[in-house]
Amino acid sequence: ASIFAAVEMAPRDPILGLNEAYNADTRSNKVNLGVGVYYNDNGKIPLLAAVKAAEEARLKNAPPRGYQPIEGLGAYNTAVQNLLFGAGNALAEAGRLVTAEALGGTGALKIGADFLKRLSPEATVYISDPSWENHRALFESAGFKVENYPYYDAATRGVNFAGMKAALLSYAPGSIIVLHACCHNPTGADLSDAQWAEVVEACRERGLVPFLDMAYQGFAEGIDADAVAVRAFAASGLQFFISSSFSKSFSLYGERVGALTIITSGKEESGRVLSQLKRVIRTNYSNPPIHGGAIVAAVLSDAGLRAQWEEELAGMRDRIRAMRTGLVEKLKARNVAQDFSFVVGQRGMFSYTGLTAAQVDKLKDEYGIYAVSTGRICLAALNNQNIDYVADAIAKVV
Ligand code: PLP
Repeated sequence: ASIFAAVEMAPRDPILGLNEAYNADTRSNKVNLGVGVYYNDNGKIPLLAAVKAAEEARLKNAPPRGYQPIEGLGAYNTAVQNLLFGAGNALAEAGRLVTAEALGGTGALKIGADFLKRLSPEATVYISDPSWENHRALFESAGFKVENYPYYDAATRGVNFAGMKAALLSYAPGSIIVLHACCHNPTGADLSDAQWAEVVEACRERGLVPFLDMAYQGFAEGIDADAVAVRAFAASGLQFFISSSFSKSFSLYGERVGALTIITSGKEESGRVLSQLKRVIRTNYSNPPIHGGAIVAAVLSDAGLRAQWEEELAGMRDRIRAMRTGLVEKLKARNVAQDFSFVVGQRGMFSYTGLTAAQVDKLKDEYGIYAVSTGRICLAALNNQNIDYVADAIAKVV
């Protein structure tokens, strides 16, 4: 018999399954709102001009393709730290930062999880209810028990903060708390600055291990404003983890550009932590690929390219906002009784619209509009060509 005879078919990834169904749909006016990708107003994934310029300059130099250090490019890792904490920050000054280039945000989460598993094998990992669908699987595959903490409150379309805080204060010391640093995926509901301060205090009081997932820096308000949570933890003196992703903010999805940053208590500790993190990386993929990180580092370290990138990032942010207000206004104009005004206040690419699974099915079957069965839509998949059609369809199904 084949050695694979007992292999069972794995369950389909719900979002990739949605994409397959969308691709197979022959209707010309179909719309895919299920994706987690930023599209421009022409419905295309943009290649940012700052990225293109940095790539052209890099290829012109025909750089050799030797191995990178295990932790990646130093200039890149410093640039990541500066985005997170601001240039000239006290943590770097104090030698409290360990950063390793990683294979996207996912890769950063995974090397962080593998490192944590060696550090505290018995800890429970808590993720928000709901969370990015890969959080649970990723920490489970690192060997952890994963539970949910209360987060989304469907009644208010906001955060059940009292429930979240009470839960944090009830967890065993050493528990790992995965937090969305901004632009919560899938709900679009973020904590206020004051609530973040309370989360930091709860983590300190209970001795929890915060793991901030920063996949959308710059997509809500701006680079510094979106780092409020990161900087509140930075000011606390606690040790914590951050995964960074540049998939969205640099539109570099397939290049797999991310980083893991670990905030230690001091320089000597950082040396030991980095040495162990390097073992995790070495035994997984040895060292990261060159191109994506080199491009991000080149853009961030050149004043002109950086200004251009910030402008393009602001353009993506503003377009998503315009789609939020546009959708709400268009639904109102179609006399939809249900109040959708909350969509304007949500942050990042996503919205929990409150559309039911039955309504989502109807959108797909009758209009070729694909959304996640939870009612999550990606606002960045709307554009001036499809937004009226989508508003018409939603008005008909609600
Ligand atoms: N974390 C969150 C919250 C995300 O939404 C995503 C991507 O959708 C990721 C991590 C993974 O990012 P990457 O594509 O860089 O691995």
